[in-house]
Amino acid sequence: MLRRSARGIAALFIASLLTLAPLARAEHTDAGAGDGGIAEGAHAIDGGAPPSPAKTVESEPASVPAAAEPGAGAATDEEASEGEDEDAADAPPDDEEEVGAEEEGSHCFEAASAAPSEPPPFAELSDEELSARLMADPRALGSMSLGRTNSGALIGGVQMLSGERWEVINPRESWGTFETVDFIAAAIDKVHEKFPGSARVRIGDISDENGGDIAPHLSHQAGRDADIGWFYKEGLPSEWATRADANNLDLPRSWAFLRAFITETDVQLIFVDRKIQGMLYEYALSVGEDRAWLDKIFQYPTHACAGIIRHARGHLNHFHVRLHARKAQELGRRAYRFLLAKGRIRPPVTYVRVKVKRGQTLGRLAKQYRTTVSAIQRANGLRSTLIRAGKDYRIPRKGGVEYIPDPVSVPPRRRPPFNPSYDRPTG
Ligand SMILES: [Zn+2]
Repeated sequence: MLRRSARGIAALFIASLLTLAPLARAEHTDAGAGDGGIAEGAHAIDGGAPPSPAKTVESEPASVPAAAEPGAGAATDEEASEGEDEDAADAPPDDEEEVGAEEEGSHCFEAASAAPSEPPPFAELSDEELSARLMADPRALGSMSLGRTNSGALIGGVQMLSGERWEVINPRESWGTFETVDFIAAAIDKVHEKFPGSARVRIGDISDENGGDIAPHLSHQAGRDADIGWFYKEGLPSEWATRADANNLDLPRSWAFLRAFITETDVQLIFVDRKIQGMLYEYALSVGEDRAWLDKIFQYPTHACAGIIRHARGHLNHFHVRLHARKAQELGRRAYRFLLAKGRIRPPVTYVRVKVKRGQTLGRLAKQYRTTVSAIQRANGLRSTLIRAGKDYRIPRKGGVEYIPDPVSVPPRRRPPFNPSYDRPTG
């Protein structure tokens, strides 16, 4: 259980900085994404409470990072905290979540045979053209997924609203990239294709309209993560928190659902409690799925292989899917410098200047600003832990958006061998 400690002040502060000026309506042209509503365009959101009373805020670097942010360890503590947790039974039902293992994963799959060198999205636009287009309309080129899922932002996203086939729990946090909402809708549609008349599923949090930190999640910051409820035998359960078990889980539909994410979308990973993995794995075998393929997809039963479906505590009432959003990620990467220069996003680390009061200690400062003693020492070139009252010190604060130097690489889809239960032979 890795519930994030409240970073309320920082989150509100970031939110207020990220709030964009009123923007043109998003163009969502994909009409075939199911019956559900996908809202277009933006509505103004409030930036929350006023920012913290911290003194001067300076951004670093003042201009733009040339490449990876040195010392921008925004993800380190979170990445370190990933890992197996055998005590799944102890986890509270709604607990979020995992994290870490952000990009890579899937080391059980052979390295993707270098995809036939398809140019990345927007390669035809020079940086100058790209900036000009964004200057005219920040949403002109589509959604932007920035940074990492645990230190990111979303610009120009689309809001997923309840529809005939799904119910959105909290529309305030149901924003994703175009690709994200299209993929989710496509996976749900695939289940309905196989099982017409299926009940609705619930969609939990995706991201905030601007991305960034939303409690209690560690990720969900870049418009590419979604919490999604299972299909249950009795249809839509009365509560989101309803845990799936051998009695109530609709195995045929729930397996078809996960399978659809694997075959129909650019899925990166899916967090599923190990107990439910076991039920789905055995069910999949019973309907003729290839065991070798399943062993690469599931972490269950060997736990040896971090495939697509991985264990994380708290994923009994829902699963968590992380999707690649090739266009939105590449656009976010290309636009990062421009957005940083315009103050639309914050760098991973910013510095606050604080005048030290009598009696204050480094430890207390570190606690107050949610950083560490050594980080403050580094930022001020201190060799000891002595600080002097009345003197200004720079306090580093995390919480901004990390720069991703490399273009996103989406591995080929891991399609299963032919299975007559799912694939009808075509002429
Ligand atoms: Zn989640």
